[in-house]
Amino acid sequence: MHPKILAAQPLVTELKKELRHRCEGLKNRGVTPSMCVVLVGDNPASLTYIKNKQKVCEEIGAHFKLIQMPASIAAQDFLSELNKLNQDPSVHGIIIQLPVSESLKALNIPNLVNPEKDIDGFNGVNTQAIYTGTTNLKLLLPCTPKGIINLLNYYGISLDGKNVVVIGRSLIVGKPLSMMLSNFNATVTLAHSKTKNLKQLTQLADIIISAVGKSEFIGSDFLAHHSSQILIDVGINSFDGKLTGDISKEAQDKSLAFTPVPGGVGPMTVISLIENLITATENQVKG
Ligand code: NAD
Repeated sequence: MHPKILAAQPLVTELKKELRHRCEGLKNRGVTPSMCVVLVGDNPASLTYIKNKQKVCEEIGAHFKLIQMPASIAAQDFLSELNKLNQDPSVHGIIIQLPVSESLKALNIPNLVNPEKDIDGFNGVNTQAIYTGTTNLKLLLPCTPKGIINLLNYYGISLDGKNVVVIGRSLIVGKPLSMMLSNFNATVTLAHSKTKNLKQLTQLADIIISAVGKSEFIGSDFLAHHSSQILIDVGINSFDGKLTGDISKEAQDKSLAFTPVPGGVGPMTVISLIENLITATENQVKG
């Protein structure tokens, strides 16, 4: 049997329709949802990610603004600019595009954004809900984990009692994702670069989620023999001039179902961000 491809597109189309409708509702009340991305420096990968966000933002009728700051900006000047955005009532969602430059590395970036405008869902005020066990995906929660759980849900893949191995423990993906999966009753192993015998863990998993950032990282030897495993590929890598994920074609072929790259987790992340923008705007309008 051929593995099923868990493409984001049908769900993204549905969500865009719903978000366009909610955006229209806000505009009828005199408020155009407005996203502001702060980019420090000119990292080319960051510029590509920002373009994707702008495209979907404008497609649903929201306003998009990019504020670029030099890589050499002093922390104090950065904080003063950010403070203006935090207080500006015409800005409803703020993203500080990561990674930031060396001059800002000492700052606690996730907690600098006004929690009401924190559409990345990284501020401690918002992530707290994850640690207290929420399953409410309408909250301002981190976008990649939220997108992955929504995609699994859309394809009718239950997490209840499932063994899930998440590889990669970053603040934006692995850490919040592992806790959110646990809130949905999965049994989660959070693996990382110091994990021993990783293949033994993945071979026993029902779902393997790779957020490592290395092309072909997951070979077919990471999988069990019975072709009943689901593979979620978070990786975005460039290999031979092509965009690839972390999961090899051999592993995909041996799976029950997998998310493609491109067209899987990436678009789910972007649409979750736009959903957070609309939710944040609705919350701010309510006051
Ligand atoms: P990161 O780059 O900060 O860290 C990589 C993680 O991989 C670390 O936790 C490390 O411990 C783990 N790792 C590295 N080598 C390993 C090994 N040999 N065995 C096991 N674990 C290992 O993580 P990130 O920021 O979450 O990014 C990971 C990948 O996901 C990147 O390719 C990034 O571009 C991509 N990404 C994609 C999306 C999306 O929307 N699709 C969103 C965020 C990140």
